[in-house]
Amino acid sequence: MTKDKPAAPVCCSNQIVVGSDTSLPEICQIQHAILENAGHAIIATDRDGTILYFNRAAQRLLGYSWHEVVGRASPALFHAPEEVIARARVLSAELHREIKPGFETFVARLDSEGLDENDWTYVRKDGSRFPVRLAITAVNDTQGELLGYLGIASDISLRRQMEQELRITATAFESQAAIMVTDVEQRILRVNPAFTKLTGYSAQEAVGQKPSLLKSGRQDATFYRRMWGALQRSGHWQGEIWNRRKSGEIYPEWLTISAIHDEQDRLTHYVSTFSDISNLKVAESEIHNLAFYDPLTALPNRRLLLNRLDKARQAGKRNAQYGALLMIDLDNFKTLNDTLGHDIGDHMLVEVANRLRRCMREGDTAARQGGDDFVVMLEELGNEAAAAAVQTETMAEKIRHELALPYRLKGATEHFRSASIGISIFCGQDKTTEELVRQADIALYKAKEAGRNAIRFFDNEMQIALDRRATLEAGLRNALLRNEFLLYVQPQVDSACRLVGAEALIRWQPPRQALVAPDAFIPLAEETGLIVPIGLWVLDTACARLRHWADDPRTRDLYLSVNVSACQFRQADFVEQVSAALIRHGVAQGRLKIELTESLLLENVADVVAKMQALRTLGVCFSLDDFGTGYASLSYLKRFPFEQLKVDRSFIRDILTDADDAAIVSAIVAMGNALRLSVVAEGVEEEGQHAFLVEHGCQLFQGYLFGRPVPFPDFEQSLG
Ligand code: C2E
Ligand code: MG
Ligand code: MG
Repeated sequence: MTKDKPAAPVCCSNQIVVGSDTSLPEICQIQHAILENAGHAIIATDRDGTILYFNRAAQRLLGYSWHEVVGRASPALFHAPEEVIARARVLSAELHREIKPGFETFVARLDSEGLDENDWTYVRKDGSRFPVRLAITAVNDTQGELLGYLGIASDISLRRQMEQELRITATAFESQAAIMVTDVEQRILRVNPAFTKLTGYSAQEAVGQKPSLLKSGRQDATFYRRMWGALQRSGHWQGEIWNRRKSGEIYPEWLTISAIHDEQDRLTHYVSTFSDISNLKVAESEIHNLAFYDPLTALPNRRLLLNRLDKARQAGKRNAQYGALLMIDLDNFKTLNDTLGHDIGDHMLVEVANRLRRCMREGDTAARQGGDDFVVMLEELGNEAAAAAVQTETMAEKIRHELALPYRLKGATEHFRSASIGISIFCGQDKTTEELVRQADIALYKAKEAGRNAIRFFDNEMQIALDRRATLEAGLRNALLRNEFLLYVQPQVDSACRLVGAEALIRWQPPRQALVAPDAFIPLAEETGLIVPIGLWVLDTACARLRHWADDPRTRDLYLSVNVSACQFRQADFVEQVSAALIRHGVAQGRLKIELTESLLLENVADVVAKMQALRTLGVCFSLDDFGTGYASLSYLKRFPFEQLKVDRSFIRDILTDADDAAIVSAIVAMGNALRLSVVAEGVEEEGQHAFLVEHGCQLFQGYLFGRPVPFPDFEQSLG
């Protein structure tokens, strides 16, 4: 080996391994090729550190060419000087002798085998630095004489980077957030201390289990399906989820799941990170409460109410449902507040809120606007304006009544406060929110004007209709006691115009008013249940009349039909009541007919049939009224023991001019006859109609042509 600047090696000019029997030129070449093609940087120096050999990998790694390096002193060339100085200092202390910061620093630690391995920082020609693992070996000749040194350096940047990442991961794993690593089969492989703290499960308990260990049951299958769908699509999912701790407590957490893939893009693990967000939830709901609820009464505030009102209007538009807004104001609340103090006033407002809450159905909203202004919103009131108004009025009455009950605020004294209510009805988005609120306000003003403790609708027509209805209902309640009902009777004749029977039809004669037709009060009587006592009166009066008829040869063979409403027929003791009336008046078999309408036949068929049969054994016959206006088909009717069918007046009216009506009536008559039902044509007013009906096989008739409904004495008198 020479210290002179050598030429680039051709063969063994820089022979570094010297052996007696390995000096064959081919071997030299092979050795050279190995050195040149090695993956690591190989640098050979003489015993003083002068570089003798610098392989291709070293040239690549450090950016120097052979000529720039060989013959120069190592380590000055490509070692970080401050590192060499620092190591020399450490070594001096360790070895208790002075180690110079130069080549000596590298070889001072060679062991008995002449080996040392250490991490160093290399500096490239361009000044950039990188870490290397440098193994230094002393090279001796066969006599054991030191010839020089061989350094093999490998770039450890990647390893360093990985080590650093591992350190980061390890630190992260110790973080505040709970971490759970699972394999592809979702078996838990690792959990961190935060996991244990949060869930209560130790690592030992959790590892090997599935994450379902934490399932709260609050999320349904669809939720998990969506979560896994997102994970499969994007490799990532995050969201809120309710889990269960070991203690059984359920808590909300914010969960992030990431799918981990290897270099071949195969799924290997799932890493879930989660943290408890209970506190966040509490804060969130507190903020929500402050923003949307009245702190005193805990009722929704104006903002939430308007919000819901908007939603209700939108929903109402979709399903054509009516809704109502009720503005409620306590009468003279200010006086109470001023005289008894705000404390008592607040007490009262809280109590009002509680009472309102009690009145609400599901879906209704009671809100406090401020002061003593409360608002109630009703939804889903059906799709008829009048019915919606009735329902709203019922609710308003309930509220007014409830709020008028005595208040016990402090001590034993009872306080009384009435309330005024203004109502505005809406259907979908027919009015704007502002308009609606304003209308309800105006209505409230009118209620106050009317002397307080009152309910007013904004819509005048609705108000008039409701007023009329209220008067009617009040009148109807007293009509029975005051004996204001009258029973009229209308004849039924056969095809030869012979009288065969009659229909009893009710009338109401309120004092000093015009006679009221049944269509004007029967529906209200049905709604209020008053039809039951009224129906009993009709039945009793009709039976009394039949008793009277039995003694008269002109009427002895006539039957009398009475109309019975569905709700009356559905009374549990209906059969007993009819039976009692028949017995009371000694009515003969076959004289009393009951007219029922199709609506009764659609529900509770077995019960209806049983009752009809029971009554038939008492000698009562059945007639199906207004046939053709409902849904029942003739074949459906066979299930019920009807004896007679009445074709509705609306078909008879146009029988001569409307081909459809003519066809319908003739078909009904034909099928009725075929089913051995006697068919009565209602509302026959003209000869032509009568002739048509006779021609088509109809055998019984009722209508103005043969006689209008008249009081019984008039009817009997007309028989001559
Ligand atoms: P309905 O049972 O179909 O009675 C026949 C109705 O047609 C009667 O009306 C009768 O006056 C009317 N009418 C009869 N012939 C003619 C005609 O030629 N032309 C016209 N334009 N009308 C004719 P009314 O008495 O006003 O009764 C109306 C409905 O009220 C009855 O219809 C029945 O459903 C109900 N109703 C009457 N009385 C009672 C009752 O005591 N109890 C119950 N539950 N309902 C009753
Ligand atoms: Mg009838
Ligand atoms: Mg009828």
